[in-house]
Amino acid sequence: MARVKKKRLLLRREWCKGCNVCVAFCPGKVLGLDDQNRITIVDESLCIECGQCELRCPDFAIELVDLEPAAAPGEATAPAGDAP
Ligand code: SF4
Ligand code: SF4
Repeated sequence: MARVKKKRLLLRREWCKGCNVCVAFCPGKVLGLDDQNRITIVDESLCIECGQCELRCPDFAIELVDLEPAAAPGEATAPAGDAP
């Protein structure tokens, strides 16, 4: 069964120095370096949200951010107008 994504990757490419640390630590082969030697996403569907990239990047160029509740597939949200 496909897992529900709770987070997405936010890349600050202008902060990336191309050290390759995140690519090496990523267990999912999600990340890569492009022809400008900056971080890029190869396949975000392989991301297991482990946080290693965010943790290991020395330049804070990667962040895992929460998906908006409405944007997370399969998550129930209260119908509009139900709030008191
Ligand atoms: S959160 Fe984990 S699996 Fe996802 S891109 Fe970062 S290191 Fe790879
Ligand atoms: S660890 Fe950070 S600086 Fe190094 S390649 Fe990845 S995003 Fe770029």
